[in-house]
Amino acid sequence: MVYPGGVTALADVSLDIAPGELTAIVGPSGSGKSTLLNIIGTLDRPTSGTVLISGQDVATLSDRRLSELRAREVGFVFQQFHLTDGLTAAANVATGLLYAGVPRRQRRELALRALARVGLAHRTGHRPHELSGGERQRVAIARALVNRPSLVLADEPTGALDSAAGEAVLRLLRRLNEEGTTITLITHDRDIAASMPRLIEIRDGRLVRDSAAAPR
Ligand code: ADP
Repeated sequence: MVYPGGVTALADVSLDIAPGELTAIVGPSGSGKSTLLNIIGTLDRPTSGTVLISGQDVATLSDRRLSELRAREVGFVFQQFHLTDGLTAAANVATGLLYAGVPRRQRRELALRALARVGLAHRTGHRPHELSGGERQRVAIARALVNRPSLVLADEPTGALDSAAGEAVLRLLRRLNEEGTTITLITHDRDIAASMPRLIEIRDGRLVRDSAAAPR
C-alpha cells in the first residue's frame, strides 16, 4: 500500500484469516497496523495486491457493491467507540443494520438482542454520556455484531479504557469468539497480544511474524 505522497505503508503482506479465528495484530506506532486493518475491512483499496472477502475479490466490485459487501460481512470497533451522542444504546446498535435492508421494527429487536449478548440488556435506553467507557465500548461491539458479520475488526478496542474496563472488553471479545465470531484486533499491548491464539507482527509495513503461518 503506497499512500499519495509516496509513503509505502505496507509491502509484501500476505495472510489468510479463517472463520472462527481470534487474531491480534501488533507492531510499533506507524508500522502499518491501521492500514492493514483498513485494507482487510475494505475501507481502503490497496495500490497493488488482492483482497478476498468470503472468496470475493473486492477489486471487481463497484463502490456501491463494496459498501454492501462491507455492511454484510464486516463489523468495526474503534478505540474511541464512535457512538452517536443523541441516540440511545439500542438506537446506536440499530445503526449497524441501516444498510442491511432490515425493516425498522426488526432492527430494534435485533439491537436489543445484540445488547443482551454483550451484557447490556439493562442499559438499552441509556445514551452514551450516561454510560461508562467500558459500557460504551460494549455498545460499539454490539453494533459491530448486530448484523452477524463474517469478521469483526477492532482497532485498539481497549486503548481508551482503564485496565479493568479493558480486561472486561477483552473477556467479552474472547467469549464472542468462543461463540463463533471471527475477530481481528490491533493492540500495542504486548500482554494482550501474547494471550491471543494467533499473533501477527508488523514492522515497517512488513509482516515479520505470523504465529499461524505454515512452516516453510
Ligand atoms: P499504525 O496503525 O501501525 O500506527 P498506520 O497504518 O496508521 O500505522 O501508518 C503506517 C504509515 O503510513 C505511517 O508512516 C503513516 O504516517 C502513513 N500513513 C497512514 N495513513 C496515511 C495517509 N492517509 N496518507 C499518507 N500516509 C499515511
